[in-house]
Amino acid sequence: MLIRITNTAEPATDLGFLLHKNPANLHSVDLAFGKAHVFYSSATPQRCTACLLVELDPVELVRGGRRLEEYVNDRPYVSSSYLTVAMGRVFGTALAGNCQKRPDLVHARLPLEVEVEVIRLKEGGSILKRLFEPLGYRVEAARIPLDDEFPEWGESEYLRFRLVAKTTVHDCLSHLYVLLPVLDDAKHYFIGEAEVDKLLRHGEGWLRGHPEREFIVQRYLKRKPALVDQALASLLAEEVAAVEAAESAAEQSSHAERDLERPMTLSTIRLNLVASRFRALGARSVVDLGCGEGKLLRRLLADQQFEQITGMDVSHRALETAARTLDLNRMPEHQRKRIRLMQGSLLYRDKRLNGFDAAALVEVIEHLDRSRLAVLERVVFEFARPRYVIVTTPNREYNALFPELPPGALRHDDHRFEWNRAEFKEWAETTASRFGYSASLEPVGPVDDRYGAPCQMAVFSLKGGAAG
Ligand code: SAH
Repeated sequence: MLIRITNTAEPATDLGFLLHKNPANLHSVDLAFGKAHVFYSSATPQRCTACLLVELDPVELVRGGRRLEEYVNDRPYVSSSYLTVAMGRVFGTALAGNCQKRPDLVHARLPLEVEVEVIRLKEGGSILKRLFEPLGYRVEAARIPLDDEFPEWGESEYLRFRLVAKTTVHDCLSHLYVLLPVLDDAKHYFIGEAEVDKLLRHGEGWLRGHPEREFIVQRYLKRKPALVDQALASLLAEEVAAVEAAESAAEQSSHAERDLERPMTLSTIRLNLVASRFRALGARSVVDLGCGEGKLLRRLLADQQFEQITGMDVSHRALETAARTLDLNRMPEHQRKRIRLMQGSLLYRDKRLNGFDAAALVEVIEHLDRSRLAVLERVVFEFARPRYVIVTTPNREYNALFPELPPGALRHDDHRFEWNRAEFKEWAETTASRFGYSASLEPVGPVDDRYGAPCQMAVFSLKGGAAG
């Protein structure tokens, strides 16, 4: 099995320093299952290609009591978990992010190409795109025909692929180290707690925000529930810390949304509107996703139609404030039974979100990176699947009417995006049709002839079918 890594930034041979392998030499290492060799197929100032060749000894794999594999198989040729183990051995220093001779190079983002000769993928090349494109790679994959001379025999399950990106060697190796075993659904090594540590260590800085995070964790840990839970819980803890840090940084900032909205009490208009829509829809159980300090929860509590009210937020601090301002501790028993607060992230599928009539996402989506919205969509519309979902988000066009806001600025420092009316409509309609909902849009707040309303709302209703 063979993998090639190419750098084309001059002097391209810096790759040798980063990989700790001198381009002039052949480097060979003995492994439990064979041998690994690193050599360079080109080493010019313009282009430098390091090749890692792993020779698997098929006899070694079945010898004695070790019976790792069936005797005849494709393992010697196909890039798999064996390749990852070899990478860990020969590129260990680079994977750890070290480069003693040239520490200045470690953070250099270089134009890199990675070519993986043969990989077996029953699912085809689309999975490569799902895994590598969110990390900034251009992915090219080609199926290998069963037999070059007899194309009529059709395609095999084998592919070769190429990845191109401007990234650091350390990041690139970390991505491969985690994702090659994800692609190989038949990992040869034992999966235990040590693998959770490896996954978190090598996934640091990118796995938490990857839209396919759950799939990656599942496959890396061979779907072992206890280990998968442990890894997802650690990622969730990182998530919580990151959201809290971003929120508190934004609070310190000068043009926080709250100040912009105070004169118009837009927040009050919005929350009253959402509560009255839920009432009109006949909802009895509501989950407020990203409930913050619980202002919608308070309105819902005041209306006895709502029998079960749940607030969820990723921020522990926000939930503490909600519990305090709702005065949960001193609430009479019959009221206390109607409300529940829980910590959780909208980027994780969560069984506790099942079974509600309705869900609210009030001023939440714009706090998530655009690339992660796809995960939230599945968590809410595919898995939790309430009968109704109400989403509100700012209308960017209206920002022109905030005199304090510099042109092009967003309303809140933690907003990752703000949509105009057309963009929100497009998102709402696409999402509705993808998950079998219908969507209707409404302005929230005073409507300006040119710019529309400051905030916008979409009400999603599940078409026919049963709720989750
Ligand atoms: N809905 C509230 C709060 C909006 S602010 C209101 O209208 O007043 C956005 C909230 O989303 C914050 O409380 C933040 O902690 C929460 N949030 C951000 N990312 C989240 C995530 N991934 N999962 C759950 N909540 C999240």
